[in-house]
Amino acid sequence: MLKIYNSMTQAKEIFHPLQPPNKVSIYVCGPTVYDFCHIGNGRTYAAFDVIIRYLQWRGFEVTYVRNITDIDDKIIKRAQENKEPFEAVVERFTQAMHEDFTQLGLLSPHHEPRATDYVPQIIQFIETLIHHHCAYVASNGDVYYDVRQFKKYGCLSHHNIDQLESGARIEINDVKRDPLDFVLWKLAKPGEPRWESPWGAGRPGWHIECSAMSTALLGDHFDLHGGGKDLIFPHHENEIAQSEAISQKKFVNIWMHAGYLQIEKEKMSKSLGNFFTIRDLLKNNKPEVLRYFMTSSHYRSPVQYSEHALIQAHNALQRFYNTLRDLPEANPLTHSEFEKKFVAAMDDDFNTPIAFSVLFDLAHEVQRLRDNELSLAAQHGALLKLLGGVLGILQDYPENFLQGEDSTLPAAKIEALITARNQARTNKQWAEADRIRDELLMLSVVLEDSTSGTKWKRISKK
Ligand code: AMP
Ligand code: ZN
Repeated sequence: MLKIYNSMTQAKEIFHPLQPPNKVSIYVCGPTVYDFCHIGNGRTYAAFDVIIRYLQWRGFEVTYVRNITDIDDKIIKRAQENKEPFEAVVERFTQAMHEDFTQLGLLSPHHEPRATDYVPQIIQFIETLIHHHCAYVASNGDVYYDVRQFKKYGCLSHHNIDQLESGARIEINDVKRDPLDFVLWKLAKPGEPRWESPWGAGRPGWHIECSAMSTALLGDHFDLHGGGKDLIFPHHENEIAQSEAISQKKFVNIWMHAGYLQIEKEKMSKSLGNFFTIRDLLKNNKPEVLRYFMTSSHYRSPVQYSEHALIQAHNALQRFYNTLRDLPEANPLTHSEFEKKFVAAMDDDFNTPIAFSVLFDLAHEVQRLRDNELSLAAQHGALLKLLGGVLGILQDYPENFLQGEDSTLPAAKIEALITARNQARTNKQWAEADRIRDELLMLSVVLEDSTSGTKWKRISKK
């Protein structure tokens, strides 16, 4: 029985797909492509990647939509600063996002709609909202949503309009009927990108994009909708107000929100400037290490970034790959207690910390068995790899992970030093052999001697 925490009801709910027995639709709000993604963004998308992988492995047929916000004030500002068309900014950072996400092993969404491809649908939504008296054309020509007309406004963030007004940083603007009213259509200023509409040439607001694109691709009522916690208010609150005012029915069954990636207890964000981009960290860290770091805490909990946390992630993966190293091919163990515990953890609102602890128990069992019951050890190892795959890790060759590529110290150089050391040992030049071992250790390479020869692996340099 799969249970998922719903931010709307603030409780874990048994998941019943809207299209039984096994079809699931999920919409995750995608990035605004005006800059490189930072690892806070990465955390949210990696969390949903694990969720989707698990749903698929559990037999659900998932339709995954993740949009691209390709028109927005920040994009326009960036294009103006760079003196380039907004499309150039969008293309550059969309491509960079795809490269980063591929590196992190994130599954591609089945649909990746771009807001600018849905302008006709967006216009139709706004017309319907005006027709229902939920939206109005303000004195400056922009179209706003009238939040006071939506009785449930605040249902997701669990505050009424008055509380929201006093608590939120909202743009005060005297053309709005209420400070919480939000823009649906914004008239273009000279030089800005524009699309024709009944209210004049302009561009859509951010919130209406997601209502229009999710409905176009998944219908007006679908299973799961997610993003980071910062999207609860106002973005998702506004999506509900728009979509439900139009359809007059429940928009989403379960709202899911990922906790923040923090740095020194503060949310990592572009506006605070306290961010690391995914691509910067990939220069010195294996993608799998970043992925492990981002997904091994529970998706709703905050996760603290530090170099130390990355070292711990690296060490954890190294333990797994050490366990898998040199195991013979085998089929994964079936009907095991390990797998049952893994499923129980993941069925409980995708509890990855417990799921990872099951993987550690499995690794431990492999090590216990490998001396005397190698084929059983290999079956446990194969299960470890299989369950690791459900979380998107452990699919590399152990040698690749443990020895990797490092242009400053290529594998050939390490192997030449090992050959020299073995020669010294043969000649009983023990001091020289130890000196070479120490030299390699200084270069973050550890040797392990066994009857079958000397194995080596790189360890974290930090
Ligand atoms: P944006 O491009 O700002 O719309 O963000 C894209 C996604 O990243 C949204 O789902 C945000 O909620 C999420 N996000 C932004 N910052 C963080 C963070 N520090 N931790 C986790 N998720 C974040
Ligand atoms: Zn959205």
